Amino acid sequence: MSKIILGIIGGGQLGSMLSIAAKKLNIKTIIFCDDIDAPAKNFCDEFIFGKYDDKEKILEFVDKTNIITYEFENIPYETLNEINKKKSVLPKPSINRLIQHRLAEKDFINKLNIRTTQYKFVEKKSDIETSKDFLPGILKTTTMGYDGKGQYLINKIEDIEILNIDFSRQYILEKLVKLKKEISVIITRFSSNSYEIYEPIENIHEDQILKYSKIPAEISKTIFDESKEWAINIAEELNYIGTLCVEFFIDRNENLYVNEIAPRVHNSGHLTINAYNISQFENHVRAVCSLDKISLKKIANAKMVNLIGNQIELYRQNIKLNKNEFFFDYLKKEIKEKRKMGHITTLL
Ligand code: ADP
Ligand code: MG
Repeated sequence: MSKIILGIIGGGQLGSMLSIAAKKLNIKTIIFCDDIDAPAKNFCDEFIFGKYDDKEKILEFVDKTNIITYEFENIPYETLNEINKKKSVLPKPSINRLIQHRLAEKDFINKLNIRTTQYKFVEKKSDIETSKDFLPGILKTTTMGYDGKGQYLINKIEDIEILNIDFSRQYILEKLVKLKKEISVIITRFSSNSYEIYEPIENIHEDQILKYSKIPAEISKTIFDESKEWAINIAEELNYIGTLCVEFFIDRNENLYVNEIAPRVHNSGHLTINAYNISQFENHVRAVCSLDKISLKKIANAKMVNLIGNQIELYRQNIKLNKNEFFFDYLKKEIKEKRKMGHITTLL
């Protein structure tokens, strides 16, 4: 068989790790990204710079590839749909459209009888003023949010006045959950009822950005089983192909909620590179390229620490790592506050 050429839209750290996984499988990668300095440039076989609505550039990219996937969800639906007419886009553009919109995403999850936080659609100031039951709550833009961007904490109605909320955008208002813990479940689905699933990962966020992940998660057997069951349900219902991550909240009364779905590989799954025989990245490439599904085996327990902003600097000075420690530098050109620059995984 001739060599598969996988197109990846997006050139961040996830695109880099997908490229590294593909290389191991003898699959060539071409990355399309709107950032000329995209870190994945360092890891892919070919890099194409262009805007996500530049039809000509996208066509050039599509012509060179066999299959197309993406590393982040905020890609215009029109772009993915156009590409899908020429080459297969996986996960399907319609799935991405559903999940990139917080309201559609939450409505979908609730239809499956899976619990989410209480939420309501907000278009104007008065929609919040009449929503006392949802306070304290978090106002989130319906689209384009990540790492806590586009979110406002609203404790009481009066807060709206000082927050300077941009009402030209649409939001959902979510009731604040009294969090005991956050976990995520990563699943790679190959076809109907054929999937590999990783054990739940425990996550700690700082400033709404993921800081620590670890396996095993310290959770009850009920939560362990229920979170996996819900992730399987979601993947099956979406008829999903590839790796998907479900983020969960556990409240102080041991209730499980789905927070959100990521239709892609996920930061909390970086530890799968070292802790499993097959990483979430390799599994994603295997699924979208129709390669064999291999049974997952955990090699070790693990924890992962994200290096945010200038926390990377110390590690760039060649500090000595132990044999069970693995340091990844995303090779981002510019260090920015709150920017994920790298991570360290420790096998336990
Ligand atoms: P993003 O798309 O930015 O990841 P999330 O909805 O996952 O947005 O929110 C980021 C983090 O903010 C969550 O992981 C959690 O720590 C906190 N958070 C978000 N919504 C709630 C909520 N309703 N109750 C409590 N904490 C929340
Ligand atoms: Mg999130």
